[in-house]
Amino acid sequence: MTKRKAFPIRFDPRGDKPSGRSGRTVLVAGGAGFIGSNLIRRLLDQGDRVICVDNLSTGRFENIGTLISHPRFCWVQHDVIVPFTVSGPVDRIYNLACPASPPKYQADPLHTFKTSVLGALNLLDIAEEKGARILQSSTSEVYGDPDCSPQPESYRGNVNTVGPRSCYDEGKRAAETLFYETHRTKRVDIRIARIFNTYGPRMDPEDGRVVSNFIVQAISGEPLTVYGDGLQTRSFCYVSDMVDALQMLMEAPEGQHSIFAPVNLGNPGEFTMLELARMVLELTGARGPLVHMPLPKDDPLQRRPDITRAHDLLGWEPKVALREGLVPTIAYFRQELQAQQRLAAG
Ligand code: NAD
Ligand code: UDP
Repeated sequence: MTKRKAFPIRFDPRGDKPSGRSGRTVLVAGGAGFIGSNLIRRLLDQGDRVICVDNLSTGRFENIGTLISHPRFCWVQHDVIVPFTVSGPVDRIYNLACPASPPKYQADPLHTFKTSVLGALNLLDIAEEKGARILQSSTSEVYGDPDCSPQPESYRGNVNTVGPRSCYDEGKRAAETLFYETHRTKRVDIRIARIFNTYGPRMDPEDGRVVSNFIVQAISGEPLTVYGDGLQTRSFCYVSDMVDALQMLMEAPEGQHSIFAPVNLGNPGEFTMLELARMVLELTGARGPLVHMPLPKDDPLQRRPDITRAHDLLGWEPKVALREGLVPTIAYFRQELQAQQRLAAG
């Protein structure tokens, strides 16, 4: 069988010397998405060079559009399931490429699974070739519908292998295995972040996750769609806290062996969806109403991270409470909707 030729990415930082802390070259797969575009701004501000690879399936060009002229930024539209090479050095790789919203990752389940598995393999190949350190964005979904709370990293999970969420959950579980075995057998320097629900500016208003849905509905004067009885819980982390945590995990020294094992990252504050809906109504000044819709199959009933490991290993804990983080998030969605209305009005 002939091997498919890898897609070549050339990175030519336009003569600009990296000015910051490290002057590293950082590859961010999935960088046009919500978390990725927040991370990229931080990296550029710190003086790094950034290569963003994204197929724009759930990410938005608007998230990175203003960076296009930045001399240390390069962006390539590419699907990570297709092997690719990068010219020049790469020091760090963040693998954030994967749809994260349930309706989005369920829209093309096979592609979601391939993104997690083939995307991980292709990026691990680049890490091995370049001697780069690589971080995987895993997820609390590896715990499925957990029967313990909070969830520590040692909990093995309760995932349905053939349910509507399995393309995402099992893809992410497989990716953790690929990362760990690549570390064990090839000494590639890996990090695995189990990210819990994260929200904030640069989320797509059409994303379909609960925070964006409730805020967009509230400021558009529409009813807030509560799935099921609304008593299921989630723990919401503001994006600046998550970007801090991802960077701290990435930059933590190799010395301690446990740094290669998965680390929960999230905010342990736990809320029911009814509590979230009421908070969004209060902060937007909207009146509701709330409408109840069927609970999607296999929707986890509770979720809350045990972040002891992140605290002990990294000295990290989130700083932004949900009520506090919702304020700039609501302001961001207001601006987004106004911009969309102006565009529609011509
Ligand atoms: P997002 O959907 O906004 O971003 C994902 C990005 O990956 C998008 O820009 C998308 O276009 C890109 N992408 C998807 N498939 C791709 C492919 N095959 N090739 C290239 N690019 C591809 O989601 P997000 O919230 O920013 O999540 C980022 C990462 O963090 C994801 O891997 C997700 O699984 C993980 N994560 C996020 C959360 C959260 O609450 N936001 C929770 C747990 C895990
Ligand atoms: N949810 C809701 N209304 C919405 C969207 C989601 O009540 O409009 C619920 C969903 O059923 C789940 C929780 O909110 O219980 C979080 O959903 P989300 O899609 O944000 O992320 P998940 O943690 O399920 O991946």
